[in-house]
Amino acid sequence: MAKRSNTIDISFFDQQMESSVKKHLEISQALNHAVENNELALALQPQVNAQGETVSFEALLRWQHPELGAVSPNDFIPIAEATESIISIGDWVLEKSCQMLAHWNEEKAFEHLGISVNVSSLQFRRGDFVERVKNILNSSGATPSKLRFELTESLLAEDIDDVVEQMESLRKLGVSFSLDDFGTGYASLAYLTRLPLNELKVDRAFVNDLGRHSKGALLAETIISLGRSMNLTVIAEGVETEQQFKRLQNMGCQHFQGYLFGKPSTNVKDYLPGKSL
Ligand code: C2E
Ligand code: MG
Ligand code: MG
Ligand code: MG
Repeated sequence: MAKRSNTIDISFFDQQMESSVKKHLEISQALNHAVENNELALALQPQVNAQGETVSFEALLRWQHPELGAVSPNDFIPIAEATESIISIGDWVLEKSCQMLAHWNEEKAFEHLGISVNVSSLQFRRGDFVERVKNILNSSGATPSKLRFELTESLLAEDIDDVVEQMESLRKLGVSFSLDDFGTGYASLAYLTRLPLNELKVDRAFVNDLGRHSKGALLAETIISLGRSMNLTVIAEGVETEQQFKRLQNMGCQHFQGYLFGKPSTNVKDYLPGKSL
Protein backbone atom coordinates (compact mmCIF):
# COMPACT_ATOMS: atom_id res chain seq x y z
CA MET A 1 0.00 0.00 0.00
CA ALA A 2 2.74 2.41 1.01
CA LYS A 3 4.55 1.79 -2.24
CA ARG A 4 1.47 2.48 -4.21
CA SER A 5 0.82 5.83 -2.57
CA ASN A 6 4.46 6.82 -3.18
CA THR A 7 4.00 6.23 -6.86
CA ILE A 8 0.89 8.36 -6.86
CA ASP A 9 2.68 11.16 -4.99
CA ILE A 10 5.58 11.20 -7.40
CA SER A 11 3.48 11.24 -10.51
CA PHE A 12 1.34 13.99 -8.98
CA PHE A 13 4.50 15.98 -8.26
CA ASP A 14 5.75 15.39 -11.81
CA GLN A 15 2.48 16.59 -13.24
CA GLN A 16 2.57 19.72 -11.12
CA MET A 17 6.17 20.42 -12.12
CA GLU A 18 5.40 19.86 -15.74
CA SER A 19 2.42 22.15 -15.70
CA SER A 20 4.31 24.90 -13.87
CA VAL A 21 7.24 24.70 -16.31
CA LYS A 22 4.75 24.76 -19.18
CA LYS A 23 2.99 27.78 -17.69
CA HIS A 24 6.32 29.58 -17.25
CA LEU A 25 7.19 28.93 -20.88
CA GLU A 26 3.77 30.00 -22.10
CA ILE A 27 3.97 33.25 -20.13
CA SER A 28 7.49 34.06 -21.30
CA GLN A 29 6.57 33.52 -24.96
CA ALA A 30 3.30 35.43 -24.71
CA LEU A 31 5.07 38.32 -22.94
CA ASN A 32 7.23 38.95 -26.00
CA HIS A 33 4.13 40.10 -27.86
CA ALA A 34 2.19 41.71 -25.02
CA VAL A 35 3.23 45.27 -25.90
CA GLU A 36 2.72 45.02 -29.69
CA ASN A 37 -0.58 43.14 -29.28
CA ASN A 38 -1.94 45.89 -27.02
CA GLU A 39 -2.56 43.51 -24.14
CA LEU A 40 -1.14 45.74 -21.41
CA ALA A 41 -2.98 48.36 -19.39
CA LEU A 42 -2.15 50.57 -16.44
CA ALA A 43 -4.29 50.65 -13.34
CA LEU A 44 -4.00 53.63 -11.03
CA GLN A 45 -4.32 53.48 -7.26
CA PRO A 46 -4.63 56.65 -5.18
CA GLN A 47 -2.08 57.61 -2.54
CA VAL A 48 -3.59 59.89 0.11
CA ASN A 49 -2.51 62.20 2.94
CA ALA A 50 -3.71 62.12 6.56
CA GLN A 51 -6.87 64.00 5.50
CA GLY A 52 -7.63 61.25 2.98
CA GLU A 53 -6.99 63.60 0.02
CA THR A 54 -5.35 62.07 -3.05
CA VAL A 55 -1.80 63.36 -3.48
CA SER A 56 -0.63 61.01 -6.23
CA PHE A 57 -1.26 57.65 -7.91
CA GLU A 58 0.72 54.45 -8.25
CA ALA A 59 0.70 52.97 -11.75
CA LEU A 60 0.23 49.19 -11.65
CA LEU A 61 0.59 47.02 -14.70
CA ARG A 62 -2.29 44.82 -15.88
CA TRP A 63 -1.99 42.12 -18.52
CA GLN A 64 -4.94 40.48 -20.24
CA HIS A 65 -3.90 37.65 -22.56
CA PRO A 66 -6.50 36.21 -24.99
CA GLU A 67 -5.88 32.61 -23.83
CA LEU A 68 -4.18 32.92 -20.45
CA GLY A 69 -6.68 35.52 -19.23
CA ALA A 70 -5.65 38.12 -16.63
CA VAL A 71 -2.13 37.32 -15.44
CA SER A 72 -1.00 38.86 -12.14
CA PRO A 73 2.13 41.06 -12.17
CA ASN A 74 3.40 38.91 -9.28
CA ASP A 75 3.48 36.03 -11.79
CA PHE A 76 4.70 37.75 -14.94
CA ILE A 77 7.11 40.45 -13.69
CA PRO A 78 9.70 37.91 -12.44
CA ILE A 79 9.49 36.13 -15.82
CA ALA A 80 9.76 39.43 -17.69
CA GLU A 81 12.88 40.14 -15.63
CA ALA A 82 14.40 36.73 -16.37
CA THR A 83 13.81 37.10 -20.12
CA GLU A 84 14.63 40.84 -20.15
CA SER A 85 11.32 41.70 -21.78
CA ILE A 86 10.97 43.95 -18.71
CA ILE A 87 13.05 46.51 -20.64
CA SER A 88 10.44 47.07 -23.37
CA ILE A 89 7.57 46.60 -20.92
CA GLY A 90 9.18 49.11 -18.55
CA ASP A 91 9.47 51.61 -21.39
CA TRP A 92 5.81 51.11 -22.21
CA VAL A 93 4.78 51.73 -18.56
CA LEU A 94 6.88 54.86 -18.47
CA GLU A 95 5.52 56.16 -21.78
CA LYS A 96 1.90 55.59 -20.72
CA SER A 97 2.46 57.22 -17.33
CA CYS A 98 4.15 60.25 -18.86
CA GLN A 99 1.41 60.58 -21.49
CA MET A 100 -1.18 60.56 -18.70
CA LEU A 101 0.70 63.25 -16.79
CA ALA A 102 0.95 65.43 -19.90
CA HIS A 103 -2.72 64.88 -20.68
CA TRP A 104 -3.84 65.81 -17.16
CA ASN A 105 -1.78 68.95 -17.45
CA GLU A 106 -3.49 69.92 -20.73
CA GLU A 107 -6.93 69.08 -19.40
CA LYS A 108 -6.32 71.05 -16.21
CA ALA A 109 -7.60 68.08 -14.26
CA PHE A 110 -5.37 66.24 -11.82
CA GLU A 111 -2.59 68.57 -12.90
CA HIS A 112 -1.32 68.84 -9.32
CA LEU A 113 -1.01 65.06 -8.95
CA GLY A 114 2.00 62.87 -9.65
CA ILE A 115 2.44 59.25 -10.71
CA SER A 116 4.64 56.62 -9.04
CA VAL A 117 6.05 54.08 -11.46
CA ASN A 118 7.56 50.74 -10.44
CA VAL A 119 11.00 50.33 -11.94
CA SER A 120 12.80 46.99 -12.03
CA SER A 121 16.44 46.90 -10.92
CA LEU A 122 17.22 45.39 -14.30
CA GLN A 123 16.24 48.62 -16.03
CA PHE A 124 19.25 50.25 -14.33
CA ARG A 125 21.65 47.56 -15.51
CA ARG A 126 21.60 48.44 -19.20
CA GLY A 127 23.37 51.74 -18.66
CA ASP A 128 20.99 53.72 -20.91
CA PHE A 129 18.14 54.17 -18.45
CA VAL A 130 18.74 57.89 -17.89
CA GLU A 131 18.74 58.47 -21.65
CA ARG A 132 15.52 56.47 -22.08
CA VAL A 133 13.78 58.45 -19.35
CA LYS A 134 14.95 61.75 -20.85
CA ASN A 135 13.60 60.77 -24.27
CA ILE A 136 10.24 59.69 -22.90
CA LEU A 137 9.91 62.85 -20.80
CA ASN A 138 10.72 64.98 -23.85
CA SER A 139 8.44 63.22 -26.30
CA SER A 140 5.49 63.14 -23.89
CA GLY A 141 5.90 66.65 -22.53
CA ALA A 142 5.34 65.43 -18.94
CA THR A 143 6.64 67.53 -16.05
CA PRO A 144 9.54 65.52 -14.54
CA SER A 145 8.73 66.57 -10.97
CA LYS A 146 5.39 64.75 -11.30
CA LEU A 147 7.19 61.47 -11.87
CA ARG A 148 8.37 59.22 -9.05
CA PHE A 149 10.15 55.90 -9.40
CA GLU A 150 9.50 53.06 -6.96
CA LEU A 151 12.61 50.94 -6.51
CA THR A 152 13.11 47.82 -4.44
CA GLU A 153 15.92 46.71 -2.21
CA SER A 154 17.06 44.29 -4.94
CA LEU A 155 18.67 47.36 -6.50
CA LEU A 156 21.35 47.10 -3.84
CA ALA A 157 22.58 43.92 -5.51
CA GLU A 158 23.56 46.03 -8.53
CA ASP A 159 26.73 48.13 -8.82
CA ILE A 160 25.89 50.67 -6.12
CA ASP A 161 28.14 53.49 -7.39
CA ASP A 162 26.60 53.19 -10.82
CA VAL A 163 23.05 53.12 -9.41
CA VAL A 164 23.69 56.24 -7.29
CA GLU A 165 25.12 58.04 -10.33
CA GLN A 166 22.07 57.21 -12.47
CA MET A 167 19.71 58.21 -9.65
CA GLU A 168 21.47 61.55 -9.24
CA SER A 169 21.23 62.28 -12.97
CA LEU A 170 17.51 61.50 -12.84
CA ARG A 171 17.07 63.67 -9.74
CA LYS A 172 18.68 66.55 -11.66
CA LEU A 173 15.90 66.16 -14.21
CA GLY A 174 13.36 66.50 -11.39
CA VAL A 175 12.35 62.84 -10.92
CA SER A 176 12.05 61.58 -7.32
CA PHE A 177 12.51 58.14 -5.75
CA SER A 178 10.68 55.88 -3.34
CA LEU A 179 11.95 52.63 -1.81
CA ASP A 180 9.12 50.11 -2.20
CA ASP A 181 8.28 47.13 0.03
CA PHE A 182 10.73 48.38 2.61
CA GLY A 183 11.68 45.88 5.29
CA THR A 184 11.17 42.73 3.22
CA GLY A 185 14.50 42.73 1.43
CA TYR A 186 18.03 42.64 2.68
CA ALA A 187 18.98 46.30 2.51
CA SER A 188 22.01 47.15 4.54
CA LEU A 189 21.32 50.43 6.30
CA ALA A 190 24.77 51.70 5.31
CA TYR A 191 23.90 51.20 1.63
CA LEU A 192 20.44 52.57 2.12
CA THR A 193 21.75 55.94 3.29
CA ARG A 194 23.76 56.24 0.08
CA LEU A 195 20.67 56.20 -2.14
CA PRO A 196 19.21 59.64 -2.93
CA LEU A 197 15.67 58.74 -1.85
CA ASN A 198 12.64 60.95 -1.21
CA GLU A 199 10.21 58.39 0.16
CA LEU A 200 10.12 55.13 2.07
CA LYS A 201 7.24 52.72 1.53
CA VAL A 202 6.36 50.47 4.46
CA ASP A 203 5.56 46.99 3.15
CA ARG A 204 2.02 45.66 3.35
CA ALA A 205 3.19 42.75 5.55
CA PHE A 206 3.76 45.13 8.50
CA VAL A 207 0.48 46.95 7.90
CA ASN A 208 -1.35 43.61 7.91
CA ASP A 209 0.00 42.84 11.33
CA LEU A 210 -0.68 45.98 13.37
CA GLY A 211 -2.22 44.23 16.40
CA ARG A 212 -1.55 45.85 19.77
CA HIS A 213 1.66 44.11 20.81
CA SER A 214 2.50 42.46 17.50
CA LYS A 215 5.89 42.26 15.84
CA GLY A 216 4.41 44.00 12.80
CA ALA A 217 3.44 47.03 14.89
CA LEU A 218 6.91 47.25 16.40
CA LEU A 219 8.54 46.97 12.97
CA ALA A 220 6.16 49.46 11.34
CA GLU A 221 6.88 51.99 14.08
CA THR A 222 10.63 51.45 13.75
CA ILE A 223 10.55 51.81 9.95
CA ILE A 224 8.43 54.96 10.15
CA SER A 225 10.77 56.64 12.62
CA LEU A 226 13.79 55.54 10.60
CA GLY A 227 12.30 57.11 7.47
CA ARG A 228 11.34 60.31 9.27
CA SER A 229 14.80 60.62 10.81
CA MET A 230 16.27 60.35 7.31
CA ASN A 231 13.96 63.18 6.22
CA LEU A 232 11.98 60.93 3.91
CA THR A 233 8.26 60.97 3.33
CA VAL A 234 6.85 57.74 4.76
CA ILE A 235 3.97 56.00 2.99
CA ALA A 236 2.27 52.76 4.03
CA GLU A 237 0.89 50.32 1.44
CA GLY A 238 -1.98 47.86 1.85
CA VAL A 239 -4.08 49.99 4.23
CA GLU A 240 -7.46 48.27 4.37
CA THR A 241 -9.10 49.40 7.61
CA GLU A 242 -9.77 52.66 9.48
CA GLN A 243 -7.96 51.13 12.44
CA GLN A 244 -4.78 50.61 10.45
CA PHE A 245 -5.06 54.15 9.05
CA LYS A 246 -5.35 55.68 12.56
CA ARG A 247 -2.63 53.49 14.00
CA LEU A 248 -0.18 54.39 11.22
CA GLN A 249 -0.97 58.08 11.59
CA ASN A 250 -0.21 57.90 15.30
CA MET A 251 3.11 56.31 14.43
CA GLY A 252 4.00 59.31 12.24
CA CYS A 253 3.20 57.87 8.82
CA GLN A 254 2.35 60.69 6.37
CA HIS A 255 0.90 59.04 3.27
CA PHE A 256 -1.30 55.98 2.77
CA GLN A 257 -2.33 53.65 -0.02
CA GLY A 258 -4.70 50.71 0.05
CA TYR A 259 -8.18 49.39 -0.59
CA LEU A 260 -9.55 51.67 2.15
CA PHE A 261 -8.96 54.66 -0.17
CA GLY A 262 -9.36 52.99 -3.55
CA LYS A 263 -8.47 49.84 -5.43
CA PRO A 264 -6.24 50.04 -8.51
CA SER A 265 -8.49 50.89 -11.45
CA THR A 266 -7.95 51.04 -15.20
CA ASN A 267 -11.03 53.22 -15.50
CA VAL A 268 -9.78 56.71 -14.82
CA LYS A 269 -13.38 57.91 -14.59
CA ASP A 270 -13.31 56.32 -11.13
CA TYR A 271 -11.05 59.19 -10.15
CA LEU A 272 -11.99 61.87 -12.65
CA PRO A 273 -15.77 61.93 -13.04
CA GLY A 274 -16.98 63.04 -16.44
CA LYS A 275 -13.61 62.80 -18.16
CA SER A 276 -12.24 60.09 -20.33
CA LEU A 277 -8.52 59.95 -20.89
P1 C2E B 1 3.87 46.82 -5.33
O1 C2E B 1 4.60 47.83 -6.14
O2 C2E B 1 4.28 46.66 -3.92
O3 C2E B 1 2.34 47.21 -5.47
C1 C2E B 1 1.39 47.04 -4.47
C2 C2E B 1 0.53 45.82 -4.71
O4 C2E B 1 -0.41 45.71 -3.65
C3 C2E B 1 -0.31 45.89 -5.97
O5 C2E B 1 -0.44 44.57 -6.46
C4 C2E B 1 -1.65 46.42 -5.46
O6 C2E B 1 -2.73 46.08 -6.29
C5 C2E B 1 -1.73 45.70 -4.14
N1 C2E B 1 -2.57 46.42 -3.16
C6 C2E B 1 -2.77 47.75 -3.07
N2 C2E B 1 -3.55 48.04 -2.01
C7 C2E B 1 -3.84 46.87 -1.41
C8 C2E B 1 -4.63 46.53 -0.23
O7 C2E B 1 -5.19 47.37 0.46
N3 C2E B 1 -4.69 45.21 0.08
C9 C2E B 1 -4.07 44.25 -0.66
N4 C2E B 1 -4.21 42.98 -0.28
N5 C2E B 1 -3.32 44.55 -1.76
C10 C2E B 1 -3.21 45.85 -2.13
P2 C2E B 1 -0.33 44.23 -7.99
O8 C2E B 1 -0.97 45.31 -8.81
O9 C2E B 1 -0.79 42.83 -8.16
O10 C2E B 1 1.23 44.31 -8.26
C11 C2E B 1 2.11 43.41 -7.64
C12 C2E B 1 3.54 43.81 -7.80
O11 C2E B 1 3.95 43.73 -9.18
C13 C2E B 1 3.83 45.26 -7.42
O12 C2E B 1 3.97 45.36 -6.03
C14 C2E B 1 5.13 45.51 -8.16
O13 C2E B 1 6.22 45.00 -7.44
C15 C2E B 1 4.94 44.70 -9.41
N6 C2E B 1 4.53 45.60 -10.51
C16 C2E B 1 3.31 46.06 -10.84
N7 C2E B 1 3.37 46.89 -11.91
C17 C2E B 1 4.67 46.96 -12.26
C18 C2E B 1 5.41 47.66 -13.29
O14 C2E B 1 4.87 48.44 -14.08
N8 C2E B 1 6.76 47.46 -13.33
C19 C2E B 1 7.42 46.63 -12.46
N9 C2E B 1 8.76 46.50 -12.56
N10 C2E B 1 6.77 45.99 -11.47
C20 C2E B 1 5.42 46.14 -11.37
MG1 MG C 1 5.12 49.73 -5.94
MG1 MG D 1 4.96 48.00 -2.65
MG1 MG E 1 4.41 45.09 -2.24
